[in-house]
Amino acid sequence: MNKTVALHTLGCKLNFSETSSIGRLMENDGFEKRNFDEVADVYVINTCSVTENADKECRTLVRRIQRKAPEALVVITGCYAQLKPKEIAAIPGVDLILGAAEKFSIVQHVKEITKGDSTKICSCDIEDVHEFTASHSINDRTRIFLKVQDGCDYNCSFCTIPMARGKSRSDSINNVIENVEAIAKQDAKEIVLTGINLGDFTSPLSSLQNPKSESMAKDNKKIEGNFFSLIKELDKITGIERFRISSIEPNLLSNEIIEFVSNSKRFMPHFHIPLQSGSDKILGLMRRRYKKDLYKERVELIKTMMPHCCIGVDVIVGFPGETDEDFMETFNFLHQLDISYLHVFTYSERTNTLAADMNSVVPINIRHERNKILRNLSYQKMQYFTNAHIGETRNVLFETKNKNGLMEGFTDNYIKITTSYNANWENKIIEWKI
Ligand code: SF4
Repeated sequence: MNKTVALHTLGCKLNFSETSSIGRLMENDGFEKRNFDEVADVYVINTCSVTENADKECRTLVRRIQRKAPEALVVITGCYAQLKPKEIAAIPGVDLILGAAEKFSIVQHVKEITKGDSTKICSCDIEDVHEFTASHSINDRTRIFLKVQDGCDYNCSFCTIPMARGKSRSDSINNVIENVEAIAKQDAKEIVLTGINLGDFTSPLSSLQNPKSESMAKDNKKIEGNFFSLIKELDKITGIERFRISSIEPNLLSNEIIEFVSNSKRFMPHFHIPLQSGSDKILGLMRRRYKKDLYKERVELIKTMMPHCCIGVDVIVGFPGETDEDFMETFNFLHQLDISYLHVFTYSERTNTLAADMNSVVPINIRHERNKILRNLSYQKMQYFTNAHIGETRNVLFETKNKNGLMEGFTDNYIKITTSYNANWENKIIEWKI
């Protein structure tokens, strides 16, 4: 009988795409996939360091596994595994911990351990992680998340990601094209380009990376360039109807990218742009690479070129030094800005970050209050944006899930549509009157 594996993702879309790829590696080795709440021989938890309670969540999941399948192997990987392997090793029931460089060698590592051995940590110094490994989700969701970039060279004072994922590195444009063409053959309609600092995408200058098709190797036509070059190339691929850019730093979202998206039939009118604070003082303390005026300019240009464009914003509340006035500055800035929704994060201290040692710490109850105020604003922004499109006809890509007789889909500009389930609409783009 084949061995079975169950996987669970904590955190972002990039982690989700990597979990999918890890699952495929295991399947290619003969493992059968199971749902995480079923009994399996191996459990893999792909962790996140942004999650406030990474430790607690990890413990709870491991405890659940132990109750249901005490003989199963438990593997922990992802950002938290790279950052705090010893902390994870102390969790009873964990067998194997894989760091950033080792997670895609999981099959080999799993073969080398037996339940009952002492916990094995396979993790190298993050400075030594240079390789880029492409990954994508497929068959898991209608939209495919394709990782094209990893790591980050910025040094925002609150962030542990550079320590968990290493230096910025990207796939080659040629490889991305190959991957997109392969995904297109599997009837996927939409690809979401993902990365840690996606706008920093730079196709490596070295010779053609691992060409997968012979013709490409023979022609050796290496396409070089940055994120703008990448999206121009992807726009030429006919097999995929929709591309979405997952998240892009405001200082890297150039005029040419905005203009290009506004003229493209394939790149959707939707941007997610981290702001983090609407106060220049706090942006400085955060070591962000822009001021609020630049952010405002970006939003205004987008809305001038694409009035129907959806704009999502990440914002952090309760950063050290954020006074009531600073918070109100952020609130007022977001209030007057023509954006569509917010992802609000409550600041929490991360060890080994500059921000963790800063003075003027904001009390936890005030952080939570500010979070509530901005979530309320987000709700109103979303309502306003959605209402502005009522009566319009837009293209909706419906997902492949029957949720108690209902199905969901997203318009080009990311308005969520919920309607009665119709099997004929699964993974189809339908003209829809909102
Ligand atoms: S840009 Fe800043 S917040 Fe984003 S991953 Fe890099 S260091 Fe972290």
